[in-house]
Amino acid sequence: MKKRPFGQNFLKDPAIAQEIVRLAQVTAEDPVLEIGPGKGILTQYLWESAKELTALEIDKKLIIELNQKFAGKENFHLIEADAAKFDYGSLGPRFKVVSNLPYYAATHIVKRLIDYRAHITDMTVMMQKEVVDRLVAHPGQKEYGSLSVFIQFHCEVERLLEIDKMEFSPPPKIDSSLVKLAPLSCPKVQVENQKTFFKVVNAAFMHKRKMLKNNLIDWQNQFQKQNGQMSLAGIDLSRRGETLSLADFATLANFIHAHHD
Ligand code: SAM
Repeated sequence: MKKRPFGQNFLKDPAIAQEIVRLAQVTAEDPVLEIGPGKGILTQYLWESAKELTALEIDKKLIIELNQKFAGKENFHLIEADAAKFDYGSLGPRFKVVSNLPYYAATHIVKRLIDYRAHITDMTVMMQKEVVDRLVAHPGQKEYGSLSVFIQFHCEVERLLEIDKMEFSPPPKIDSSLVKLAPLSCPKVQVENQKTFFKVVNAAFMHKRKMLKNNLIDWQNQFQKQNGQMSLAGIDLSRRGETLSLADFATLANFIHAHHD
């Protein structure tokens, strides 16, 4: 089969595109950003519902097609750009994001959007089902990891829809999920130093099968022994990272930050 550049799996059914726009709750008050408009199936409905639509597309050939299809439409801006590098701050103070993201760069693009979260009301994005399983996972679930903590620290997360791979042309190898990520104005847990927090989170999940006392070895000078058990900030270090809630990670990170020399 011909290799598709840019993760191009186009949605076939206009009814699904309409449902995505409905679930994104786009109103005539909302400026909207679409990443990867492709052949424009979502673009059309977004343009009809939004106050203003900006679409970012990397593929020159699709830019030409889209320019023909949407020529002369008011309040529509098409930008040829790489969504993984784009300066989203240039789009104005507040906008919604709606996208059927290219799989190969989906996580990377979402992380970049989160860097610009002050500008974003919410993002309704389609990604690989496996990735969305990680975004929504809770402690104790096998999909729970550093990506779950990162996203849930910054956003309210809700899975909205499952979409079968056969709904795309060409069909990708795996199914998709639509997820809504709404950046929080203030994270759910209080963290003194975000750099330390994410350092601890990443270390705790570094070797998933290892206990915290092995993964958090960089901070062993702060370990305490209580009743024969190693602990840190009152957290038993024989536990594994995947059992810790965001609040537990905040407790560890705040303790480490307060006691670092
Ligand atoms: N929105 C269309 C749909 O639902 O049928 C297309 C979705 S397709 C999964 C992903 C789209 O993102 C393609 O149009 C592709 O060319 C575009 N794309 C891929 N990488 C991109 C990037 N780094 N920046 C901007 N657009 C990109």
